[in-house]
Amino acid sequence: MSVEAPVKKFAIKDYKSDLHNDWCPGCGDFGILTGIQMALAQLNLDPDKVAVFSGIGCSGKTPHYIKAYGFHTLHGRVLPVATGARLVNSDVTVIALGGDGDGYGIGAGYFVNSGRRNVDMAYLVHNNSVYGLTKGQASPTLSKGKKTKSMPEQAIQDGINPIAMAVAAGYTFIARGYALEPKHLAGIIAKSIEHKGAALVDVLQTCPTYNDLYTKEWYEGADLPEKRSRLYKLDETGFDGVVHDVTDEQEIVAKKAAAVVKSYEKEPIPIGIYYQAELPTYEDALRQRIPSLAEKALIDIDVFHRDTEALLEAMR
Ligand code: SF4
Ligand code: MG
Repeated sequence: MSVEAPVKKFAIKDYKSDLHNDWCPGCGDFGILTGIQMALAQLNLDPDKVAVFSGIGCSGKTPHYIKAYGFHTLHGRVLPVATGARLVNSDVTVIALGGDGDGYGIGAGYFVNSGRRNVDMAYLVHNNSVYGLTKGQASPTLSKGKKTKSMPEQAIQDGINPIAMAVAAGYTFIARGYALEPKHLAGIIAKSIEHKGAALVDVLQTCPTYNDLYTKEWYEGADLPEKRSRLYKLDETGFDGVVHDVTDEQEIVAKKAAAVVKSYEKEPIPIGIYYQAELPTYEDALRQRIPSLAEKALIDIDVFHRDTEALLEAMR
């Protein structure tokens, strides 16, 4: 009689590294880190099967604090590195993350092209409207006319709308979370990981050191006479961003249009899933073109000892 070994149940502590964390006290990045660790525990993912990639910025330190494989890459370059890792080893859950300056500024070209490519991975953006690591300059998400305490003058260029950009680029899962609601954020992150395709989670993140506009109190609406939150949850309003019939182009267009309209709501700001559609991924297309990839991951294929004579002959 064979006895099956019990499935190991991972807990949040299994994803915590013992490295010293040097984020400023009260930074919203702590909430995002907790949200990621809670999501990994919810999905019971083996830390040995998770790889977390980051760009440069305060958010770039996140992989150091997660017990899983990690790679702190270059400014704006997290998506191509994460894409390469995912395509080489499809057995690993790939999470890419970075800041708003990193991803929507220098990394904007990769941001757009990763959407249309639809590689199966989750991309989390710590969106605090400033370049925190370099002393709080205005980032691409700060609106025209705004001035944080780290800026000598108001911004004279407008901010971008990352949700609308993600819709246009072709991301198949688009959501927004809030760093100081890690439980709600964890649910969104778990869904972004479970989604088969390119997922963007734009996370509104407080930076108490440099951004005195979008603070915890501002999000709570402490300055408003009615003291109501400046955030609301899409799923509590009956909003349904999920495409139920992906063969119906009209439904896809209608759901994308609804997501863009929601993305322009300012006060209160919607959080939750704006749009989701299960469409063929880049990996699906690769497996069709190269059938051996359907049998094993590229990392398990001996690409160095192939007989290339016939190919070279054909090119002569
Ligand atoms: Fe967080 Fe801002 Fe400090 Fe960076 S500078 S660690 S984003 S509070
Ligand atoms: Mg930033």
